[in-house]
Amino acid sequence: MMGKTIFSFLSLASLAVSCTPPASSSQSDSSAAPVALQLPTAGQVKELPLVRQDSFNLAYLMGHFDPANHPDFTVVEIRYANREGCYLRKDAYEAFKKMHAAALQSGVQLQIISATRSFKHQKEIWEAKWNGSRQVEGQDLSKTLPSPEARARKILEYSSMPGTSRHHWGTDIDLNALTDSYFQKGDGLKIFEWLSAHAHQYGFCRPYTAKGPERPNGYEEEKWHWSYQPVARHLTEMARLHLRDEMITGFQGAETARRIGVVERYVLGVSKDCLQ
Ligand SMILES: [Zn+2]
Repeated sequence: MMGKTIFSFLSLASLAVSCTPPASSSQSDSSAAPVALQLPTAGQVKELPLVRQDSFNLAYLMGHFDPANHPDFTVVEIRYANREGCYLRKDAYEAFKKMHAAALQSGVQLQIISATRSFKHQKEIWEAKWNGSRQVEGQDLSKTLPSPEARARKILEYSSMPGTSRHHWGTDIDLNALTDSYFQKGDGLKIFEWLSAHAHQYGFCRPYTAKGPERPNGYEEEKWHWSYQPVARHLTEMARLHLRDEMITGFQGAETARRIGVVERYVLGVSKDCLQ
């Protein structure tokens, strides 16, 4: 049963299409190389309990499916997004639409700028930063950080290793802008204050809060990233129980995952609100 489900994801994975955040749109088309899927072994998958529903398994958790062909997903209407082709889980989308309507009544216009991203898509983002075809803070990291571990840690400030992104799950969205400065004043501040006060009423939590004693590890703060917790909590728990650094493979720089402790520090390095 489980094997059959994974097989169907595998056959769809090469077709993956999803919306792209503005900052990566310039380079994400350039990588046309075929993707070598690195899936958990049959033994690893077989040991997994079913969590919440049949479609949750390690292949799903790691983004090895095409949201455009997954029965639990739907395309996001353009009125809610800044581009065509964004996909979300249907349950997360319904909750988002309610939140969007409530925000609008308070004069706050929420806009999805990134939603579901497949393993393949995340690999394009990661490798562009890894090999220098996309600059990070104005630098070609392949030249300025020749040490693989240092380079991976730099990319990990804001980008996930393929297979470890919450954006694989269909529960997570980036809203309005991808810069902290946008949310510090004017419309951005109003949006952030509204979300901070009300998002939880619709099931959304913010996983990447400010770093500090409460959240010592993981990505830097992201005021734009929100997560549909009623579903994401099951996937977070599945990651805690079954995702291991050794499974993080299939892209340039993946060998650093184990030394960095990507699962513990990054996948599980989220706010308390998103762990409950
Ligand atoms: Zn995000």
